Amino acid sequence: MTELKALLREVSLLGQASALLGWDQQVYMPAGGAAARGQVLGQLRKMMHERTTSSDVGRLLDALEPMVKDLDPYSDAAALVRLVRRGYERSIKIPKELVIEMSEAGAAGYQAWLQAREEKNFLLFKDHLARQFELARRVADLLGYEDHPYDANLDRYERGLKTADVEALFSGLRERLVPLVRRIAERADAVDDSFLYQHYPQAQQLALAEEVLRLIGFDFQHGRQDLTVHPFCMGVAITDVRLTTRVDENWFSNCFYSALHEGGHGLYEQGLPQEYEGLPLAETVSLGIHETQSRLWENVIGRSRAFWEHFLPVAKKYFPDQLSGVTPEQMFRAVNKSQPSFIRTEADEVTYNLHVMLRFDLEKDLIAGKIDVADLPDLWNAKMEEYLGITPPDDVVGVLQDVHWAGGMIGYFPTYTIGTVASIQLYNAAVAANPDIPAAIGRGDLSGLLAWMREHVHRHGSRYTPEELLERATGSKLDFEPYMAYMEQKYTDIYGL
Ligand code: ZN
Repeated sequence: MTELKALLREVSLLGQASALLGWDQQVYMPAGGAAARGQVLGQLRKMMHERTTSSDVGRLLDALEPMVKDLDPYSDAAALVRLVRRGYERSIKIPKELVIEMSEAGAAGYQAWLQAREEKNFLLFKDHLARQFELARRVADLLGYEDHPYDANLDRYERGLKTADVEALFSGLRERLVPLVRRIAERADAVDDSFLYQHYPQAQQLALAEEVLRLIGFDFQHGRQDLTVHPFCMGVAITDVRLTTRVDENWFSNCFYSALHEGGHGLYEQGLPQEYEGLPLAETVSLGIHETQSRLWENVIGRSRAFWEHFLPVAKKYFPDQLSGVTPEQMFRAVNKSQPSFIRTEADEVTYNLHVMLRFDLEKDLIAGKIDVADLPDLWNAKMEEYLGITPPDDVVGVLQDVHWAGGMIGYFPTYTIGTVASIQLYNAAVAANPDIPAAIGRGDLSGLLAWMREHVHRHGSRYTPEELLERATGSKLDFEPYMAYMEQKYTDIYGL
């Protein structure tokens, strides 16, 4: 076991270097550094891949498996061996050359995506995108799948998730969400959010974002926040968690809610069990569970009435003129205004999942070869019209808006909706265990909620599967009923439906 742990910790150090270089690539690196950065990241990933697929790992696992087979399957030793075996079996199916190719394609794709956005020209990105889908298909064929090549890609981000599960979840949700969007549209002028669209200077926005991050418990001794094009959170180490955000000086919500969202991810990364750092036991369990944490702080808390009762006076210190005369109730309603919009990351809670469904439909068909990358902008716009009733004026606010496909992250989007749905299940379970939580939010005390998440989600790392973790924490499997009940109640209240 000692030998296996040493090997894993060595790979984890390479992973930390790679994470930091990846963070820098999206935050500070000059565009001209892309090729050199692609090479160094490729080299690091090659070294990690060589170590994790070496026959040493297979030999150690073969020797350890008989020793742990009678232990509690969730004990440190048994869970560790099981997780390493899973990773090993997957890694050995992907040849080293392909790992390097994927890494280089990701670096080149990211730069092409930036360029295409800059020039509002999808054609500059098209071939890079086609290459990413071709690579994703090759990975699916190598990893194997039962029903759909997309399954193998989903499983990279959400262990065990199947295309058919996502289809069932999405069609159930769509049946309830689409009528809600329509009922809200009929009362569109019931909410005034015009005061959110004034001049909010960047420096104050960033300072307020930092203040709200401190309020939810993000530790700046072990993390920081920087600016980027597409906000993300990168856990370099448990003690070094990087958040990124962006600022629109003419809109309050962009930076504020990006910060809360990424801050939620950051709390999860900072809450992982340090005694296992470098081992899979200290890794976040899945993107879906990761997203429960970001959506919780962004929406369930940050867009609640109780939160603004406490936090509006704080925000007014930074923006005394812009928020002059605004009441907590007006703020609560304004930040929840719902209307179809183009950008997923800026979408309200009601329309958000429809953006995810659109991407799922397209990437599933692209990987199966049913549609062609060249037709993507048109297909995108047609789906926007179908789900949200609006057509993007250009590809920057259409098919070019997300960074994921540029970097080869295909099969990632559904985890956003899974996390959004499960965030309500976790919140309800936390409140059932600690009924003071809603009142405490109104007092600006979020420690009880964070403590519950630390205890039931963060500290478990990857010991359980995402499904097991959710069931142990909430007593039930993934279920969209509590989520829809929350949504219908909240929006009936706001819009007087
Ligand atoms: Zn997120």
